[in-house]
Amino acid sequence: MKRVIAIDGPSGAGKSTVARILAERLGFRYLDTGALYRAVALYLRRKGADEGTDDERIGRLLEGLVLEFSDGRVLVNGEDVSEAIRSPEIGHYSSVFSARRPVRAFLLEIQRRFPERHDTVAEGRDMTTVVFPGAWRKFYLDASLQERARRRYRQLRDRGITMEQAWRDVRERDERDSGRALAPLRRAPDAVYIDTTSRDIEETVEKMLEFL
Ligand code: C5P
Repeated sequence: MKRVIAIDGPSGAGKSTVARILAERLGFRYLDTGALYRAVALYLRRKGADEGTDDERIGRLLEGLVLEFSDGRVLVNGEDVSEAIRSPEIGHYSSVFSARRPVRAFLLEIQRRFPERHDTVAEGRDMTTVVFPGAWRKFYLDASLQERARRRYRQLRDRGITMEQAWRDVRERDERDSGRALAPLRRAPDAVYIDTTSRDIEETVEKMLEFL
């Protein structure tokens, strides 16, 4: 197992951008685990699954999924879905399906295999607590709800989202990601806590580098 920098935090805390930059600067690989949950959600939606589908059926559907990812691209059974997984609908369903046992079990092994060969910056909701509890370094990035809603709005306004929808979306995801029974979003006691509300990306990266 190579070195892992594990980063958790709620939606809109700036994890992805910071993780990507950190990985580039350090020569580590970037593991965007949210993209994996999104790809699973896209696949399950295409198979007709929704909130009412039971775990057994979800488990069976996942037997037909080959998930590949490299260099920031994600492939579902050979199809590049890197853009398709960024829609607000898939954002919603990634959070819905990520609470389901077969989905988390399916992705756990895939995630753990990644750092076998590469130093890795891994970012998500349960990196520091469940997937890589023994990570080399751990961070928890946070920001106020208002600031995170603003960031989401800026990210998605070209897709027609309103500020009010962005706010609601972030709040709903917070509740679901922190309130679920399996691998809920938690601040690990040994993770460095960084509030990014009034820090820009560069300042956040600089702060994190101080802890390496
Ligand atoms: O980070 P991103 O918004 O792309 O993640 C999409 C969803 O995937 C999150 O809202 C969360 O429900 C789920 N997720 C998770 N565990 C992770 C990463 C993402 O449950 N490690």
